[in-house]
Amino acid sequence: MMREFFVVMTIGVLGFFAYQTHTEPQTRHNSLMHRLTHPTDVRVRYRIGQVDERFGLGRDEVKRLAHEAVMIWHDGTGSEWFVYDEDAKLTINLIYDERQIETNERQKIRKNLDKLQKRHQADIIQLESDRKQLHEQFDFLQKELADWQAKYNRVQEKLQYTQDPTTSQMLILQRNELIEKRYNLNEQKRRYEITQENFNQRVDKINTNAHALNQEIEQAKARLTPREFHKGEFQHGSDTIINIYEFENVNELRLVLAHELGHALYLDHNDDPTALMYPYAQEQDLKNFRLKQADIDLLNTRQFYK
Ligand SMILES: [Zn+2]
Repeated sequence: MMREFFVVMTIGVLGFFAYQTHTEPQTRHNSLMHRLTHPTDVRVRYRIGQVDERFGLGRDEVKRLAHEAVMIWHDGTGSEWFVYDEDAKLTINLIYDERQIETNERQKIRKNLDKLQKRHQADIIQLESDRKQLHEQFDFLQKELADWQAKYNRVQEKLQYTQDPTTSQMLILQRNELIEKRYNLNEQKRRYEITQENFNQRVDKINTNAHALNQEIEQAKARLTPREFHKGEFQHGSDTIINIYEFENVNELRLVLAHELGHALYLDHNDDPTALMYPYAQEQDLKNFRLKQADIDLLNTRQFYK
């Protein structure tokens, strides 16, 4: 009698587990003990495992970001899918390797390029303003020279026709003054030409800079490819783990965590570039991400029990 009862109970429990694994596949990530003692709790229990200190993030900070990643799922669906538990099977690790080194390298390149581009833009703005000033100087000088020429011609003409020696004397004095002024004007013109020459040299230099900058941008482009989510990975086996290998900033880490947690819910990828379960981090709003319909659709059409 006892033995039959035990057999019936075992079949019942196994049947319940089979059913639950089918309808709520994520419960497979929880320990058998937890499933036995909390049969109706279908939330995935997760914990933070190892966090390599070279990422520059404390375990508490990673825990907070994982919680925010979890809240993306909770807020987007109105259901609780995950709960933190230090004894959980599902473990999130931050593992530092050459991938993060490459990411840091990329970030350095990008920052440097930004700096160079900003400086170049400032140079061009300054150049345009100087060009305008130079044009004004040139126009002014042209006008001065034309005025001078007109005055000189007038004096010369009067000198030719005057018979009066006093007037003639006065005109010669005026002409000498004008010749003196002409030296000043020539000096101004010479200074203008030097400024113009310097300006042309600056234009050449800036053009060379622009060329070098474009080359650097082309070279960098090859390395600045869209960020794959699978810098993190979800592994399911005797150990259930989410390993994160690289991220550019905490906003991206939060989204990578949320993405991998999506895989823990047995979701595949979708093809909406703004969605969480898109395979690349590209067009998503990293800072204030909210689940997209494409993500919710995946939950509603989960292929159970693979
Ligand atoms: Zn993925």
